[in-house]
Amino acid sequence: MSTSSRAVRIHATGGPEQLVIDTVAVGEPGPGEIRIRHHAIGLNFIDVYQRTGLYPFPLPLSLGMEGAGVVEAVGEGVTHLKVGDRAAYAANPPGSYSDVRVMPAMNVCKLPDAIPFETGAAMMLKGLTAQYLLRRCKPVEGLEAGDFVLFHAAAGGVGLIACQWAKALGLRLIATAGSAEKCQLALDHGAEHAINYRTEDFAARVKAITGGQGVKVVYDSVGKDTWDKSLDCLRPFGLMVSFGNASGPVPPFAPGILAAKGSIYVTRQTLFTHINNRERTQQMADELFQVVASGQVKIRIDQRFALTDVKKAHESLEARATTGCTVLLP
Ligand code: NDP
Repeated sequence: MSTSSRAVRIHATGGPEQLVIDTVAVGEPGPGEIRIRHHAIGLNFIDVYQRTGLYPFPLPLSLGMEGAGVVEAVGEGVTHLKVGDRAAYAANPPGSYSDVRVMPAMNVCKLPDAIPFETGAAMMLKGLTAQYLLRRCKPVEGLEAGDFVLFHAAAGGVGLIACQWAKALGLRLIATAGSAEKCQLALDHGAEHAINYRTEDFAARVKAITGGQGVKVVYDSVGKDTWDKSLDCLRPFGLMVSFGNASGPVPPFAPGILAAKGSIYVTRQTLFTHINNRERTQQMADELFQVVASGQVKIRIDQRFALTDVKKAHESLEARATTGCTVLLP
């Protein structure tokens, strides 16, 4: 059976005005693929990087890397999903801003019955990111309950999940965020301290909070604006996890700086390395489903937009006007 779908695509990189709703043909899934009909779609900052061209892709490009819905057809060799299953995913290639799509099954997981579609669509990419950041990126001296960590943009989609998960792990999370209201939100979700990095010197505050010691890990998705001061927040042998560029990419730097800051470590991570096989994807998703089912991590959906209002959704995200997760509804 062949069908058609709306798909939000870009034919040229640029601002939100480049987002257009096209009608595309959707065919049968090939080997290792499924066809999924979306009930909800997750909005992520990576969609902005793809739209602007910071992360280049061939054009035209269907956007969206996160969604939830019902499996409509299953290709040869797919054994973990069947027609009619509720499912959710964070996956490459993009294309979730659509009614229905064919995609590789590898990163698609069965969605537990207790988790609504909107929650599933909001939490996969952001929650699996929080999982690998907190559970798989370890500083050489280990990370244990009671250790201080610094998490930037903590009132955002990934941020509020990380605040709650860190608290569940016993970590003492210092949050940064761009307003007093956002700082309060981070505190309400498990951060021990919150710093408004638009008005305060966050490195000085981190030093004061940690008695001059610094934190074991900095999780930095802001990039250009926070890079230098983030390095000053680390204790010796600490780990700088760079995982985004909301303010722009980090400029090149000389490795000698890492010695001067206390033999610190720097890594630049992407979720897509962590979920590059089915087994690990499922293990990470199971951990995520478990912390959500236990109530330790609540998925906040603070913005909902119709798929046809996708431009407004991108504008809000880039204007720092959102908190928690945002979903698009087909
Ligand atoms: P968020 O909901 O966190 O939105 C981004 C936030 O970044 C804003 O709300 C804002 O919070 C902050 N920010 C700081 N400076 C700027 C700026 N100049 N322009 C816009 N926003 C700014 O988005 P997501 O939860 O989708 O993603 C969080 C970050 O994590 C993103 O940078 C994303 O790319 C990255 N990411 C990386 C992954 C990876 O594996 N590498 C996977 C998933 C996400 P405030 O106002 O509080 O400063």
